[in-house]
Amino acid sequence: MFEHLKEKPADKIIALGQAFREDPRETKIDLGVGVYKNPEGVTPVMRAVKAAEKRLWEEETTKSYTALAGDPAFTGAMADLVLGDAVPRENVATLATPGGTGAVRQAFDLVRMANPGARVFVSDPTWPNHLSILAYLGVEVVNYRYFDSATCAVDFDGMMADLEGVRAGDVVLLHGCCHNPTGANLTMPEWRAVVERLNAAGALPMIDIAYQGFGDGLEADAAAVRYVAANCPEVLIAASCSKNFGIYRERTGILMAVMQEAGLRTLTQANLAYLNRQTYSFPPDHGARLVSMVLTDDTLRADWQAELEDVRQGMLKLREQLAAELQRLSGSDRFGFIAQHRGMFSRLGATPEQVERLRADHGIYMIGDSRINIAGLNDKTVPILAKALIDAGV
Ligand code: PMP
Repeated sequence: MFEHLKEKPADKIIALGQAFREDPRETKIDLGVGVYKNPEGVTPVMRAVKAAEKRLWEEETTKSYTALAGDPAFTGAMADLVLGDAVPRENVATLATPGGTGAVRQAFDLVRMANPGARVFVSDPTWPNHLSILAYLGVEVVNYRYFDSATCAVDFDGMMADLEGVRAGDVVLLHGCCHNPTGANLTMPEWRAVVERLNAAGALPMIDIAYQGFGDGLEADAAAVRYVAANCPEVLIAASCSKNFGIYRERTGILMAVMQEAGLRTLTQANLAYLNRQTYSFPPDHGARLVSMVLTDDTLRADWQAELEDVRQGMLKLREQLAAELQRLSGSDRFGFIAQHRGMFSRLGATPEQVERLRADHGIYMIGDSRINIAGLNDKTVPILAKALIDAGV
């Protein structure tokens, strides 16, 4: 039977990580995979998470199953973190999932179940896994313009023109903050215009938020999601705990379905639980439990927020250093966008040939579309990258 299987394309980001590990050069720099690294190149376990793990080991008395939709302490704490007081909780159905990817997958599956004809509009570019999951599920994808590669900013006019094509029942996928892969984000007035457009068309916004706290701060990064949740009849929100809690391998995420019509909550909640049951039954609990412990304990939460803020400030400083160094070397402001972008990524606007030259000549690894992980840099490597970019003619 297995001989009938078809070759699958390797995930480009994972393949790049492998190529980096196999590169013997000591001076190599990894700006590829989207994992936070401190200036020493380490992805640390956050202090509050470590403390919660210790407490959990001491206090946990059973590892029996939780609930199909996840532990309510987790889903409640995450709904608070993402939604604040934007919507009453009786208007929100929640589902714990393995990572943000699990939430994205279950969201697309829910869309397909509710409206098999729905098309999903995605930004061009978007996180490649959005596209491959949609292709796997057989959902029709429509691209909307998002990134202006001349200015490395959002092409808002292009985006709005393309959203004119949205029909009732379509889903429009938006990145809540820290757009991956570009780093370019909508302003609040732009979010308001998008909401107006989607509401006029009868389309449903789906927000993927995987980097809350990495851009302008925990609250600021949730402002757009909260605005959309409060102002649209129905919204899907996929949130990841991988980055902001640093618990990547624990696979912790949540899907929220927000509806103005609270009468639909029970039906929606039952469908969400059904999706988990069919896919993997109970969602993983360890990471979720750590998250709810950190979020509901004042001391742990304060320490987590302080560490997350240090992470955010560190990335902002690297952005400013890189933009300043490139300005010095190029004598122009054309790299100013690096300091304007937010989150872990920036798309630099280099050609695939330039990206390849950076890898071959300098051992600098970035994604083929010239996305860099800012957290892969430190004080020493910022000037090296800046010089290499200029040398490569970027
Ligand atoms: N959405 C986006 C836009 C992402 O960048 C990521 C992480 N790469 C995810 C979702 C999901 O991450 P995870 O499954 O590791 O939580």
